[in-house]
Amino acid sequence: MPQQSDYIVIGAGSAGSSLTRRLIDAGHSVHVIEAGSVDTDPNIHSPQGWPALLTGPNDWAVMTTPQEHAAGRELFWPRGKVLGGSSSLNGMIYIRGHRDDYDAWEAEGNTGWGWDSVLPLFKRSEDHEDGASAFHGAGGPLHVSRLRDRHPAAQAFVDAAVALGHPLTEDFNGEIMEGAGFNHATIKDGKRHSAWQAFVVPVLDSPLLTVTTDALVHRVVIEGGQAVGVEYSVGGEMLVATADAEIILSAGAIGSPAVLHRSGVGDRADLAAAGVDVVVDLPGVGKNLHDHLLVGNIYESPSPLIPGRNNLLESQLFAHSRQTDDNAPDLQPLFLHLPYPTDGGDAPAQGFTIAPGLVAPRSRGTLRIASADPAAAAIVDPNILAEDYDVEALVDAVIMCREIGGHEALAPFVAREYVPSSAPADRDAIRSLVRALAGTYHHQVGTCRMGVGDDAVVDPQLRVRGVAGLRVADASIMPTVPRGNTNAPAIMVGEKSADLLLGA
Ligand SMILES: Cc1cc2nc3c(=O)[nH]c(=O)nc-3n(C[C@H](O)[C@H](O)[C@H](O)COP(=O)(O)OP(=O)(O)OC[C@H]3O[C@@H](n4cnc5c(N)ncnc54)[C@H](O)[C@@H]3O)c2cc1C
Repeated sequence: MPQQSDYIVIGAGSAGSSLTRRLIDAGHSVHVIEAGSVDTDPNIHSPQGWPALLTGPNDWAVMTTPQEHAAGRELFWPRGKVLGGSSSLNGMIYIRGHRDDYDAWEAEGNTGWGWDSVLPLFKRSEDHEDGASAFHGAGGPLHVSRLRDRHPAAQAFVDAAVALGHPLTEDFNGEIMEGAGFNHATIKDGKRHSAWQAFVVPVLDSPLLTVTTDALVHRVVIEGGQAVGVEYSVGGEMLVATADAEIILSAGAIGSPAVLHRSGVGDRADLAAAGVDVVVDLPGVGKNLHDHLLVGNIYESPSPLIPGRNNLLESQLFAHSRQTDDNAPDLQPLFLHLPYPTDGGDAPAQGFTIAPGLVAPRSRGTLRIASADPAAAAIVDPNILAEDYDVEALVDAVIMCREIGGHEALAPFVAREYVPSSAPADRDAIRSLVRALAGTYHHQVGTCRMGVGDDAVVDPQLRVRGVAGLRVADASIMPTVPRGNTNAPAIMVGEKSADLLLGA
């Protein structure tokens, strides 16, 4: 007996949660189908708990293929598999990206996605502790707070950067993104405010809402060009759900293209290799995979640092590399008051990390399914560092971060530089270092690209090309990754998709 609702939302992550809430508020019935479990692990709710979640039962723990331009390494990509999706695992930094990012989406033909159109959606989601202003919203579901009880080492990082000439910024989401400062965070009353907790938990008792957890979606059933149902399994039992209105795929940058492939929507050659019959030949599915990159520049401390009271990721810097004339910064170095080896390698027992970060990468990769089996891992090849620009910008970032790490403001926390273990002799040595260390910033996007060209998977209304009644709403639709962390942008995509579905 198929389960029926107005809408089916596949995936209870950042975008799926905001979308679900808006559909419920508008009086529609919604069935949320989520592969992960209920968000009961206390490490989800403690802002300091996120490192303990990685590789655990709430993590898909994606592994990439060996990376040709990154010393042949396979990269570990954590992804949330739980109510809240990656917003239940993430570092809680609240940043939206630069206005130029969204204006570039619009300039490519994505009408309605420019900064002036999306800023009201960011504000609508938000309940910023400072109250409403030109850049912030108040009274929305998602609480955003400033960090208190700041870590002294995080403060020293900001002091060092400012002493070296970087501007001080109070708000990376304000008038000027560039500079060093403290993050604002999705933390409420000392607890993580995941998208699930913020948007859906307040309406959990609604008779309009059905939530099925531990439910792996196999495919969307498409008949005569129309999405007619969702096939999924719970504990080995196959089930089918149907929607009177539409089906929305919010399974994230890894999950959404994989579900489309299993549904027969994708590049003819990719589908043939996986043994899946072609329903719609849509070459863009799984292409355009990209991510921000981090490199760990780690310092050993003379004594243990005091524990952090916040999200372990308190301060950071937006800056320009020497490789770009863009108005918007292309680097986002991140400070952690703990050792954080971005290659999963060696780390000192006590210390801190200044992680040179690239947020305007030009390399693009691919995602394909290995077979029609939904339990089989996808073949994920982000092709990092294929473009010289990415390497050179990260080399600039490493130089910038080592300069900050060597500043006297941080001296009380430094016994020695640990990674790199000896000062690189020249730029070539730093290039090798970048290829040996670069890892994820956890901001994968782009695999169901929104656009108007042949490479687009969804149109600017987020409708899957060639399939009626099916949309994608999550980080996978982003044509280019915004400069900044991607939780708030994914939540915004959920908000926007609700407006598109509801004809607002
Ligand atoms: C460790 C980590 C740290 C991060 N730190 C930050 C940060 O500090 N700030 C920030 O802004 N961003 C951060 N991010 C990134 C941010 O959280 C993500 O970009 C964002 O949550 C993506 O939202 P989404 O809706 O696209 O996908 P997700 O939130 O990942 O949701 C996808 C959901 O779909 C489900 N799903 C997938 N496949 C299936 C299937 N076949 N059947 C059923 N369900 C399925 C998944 O289980 C998941 O719940 C971080 C991410 C990680 C992993």
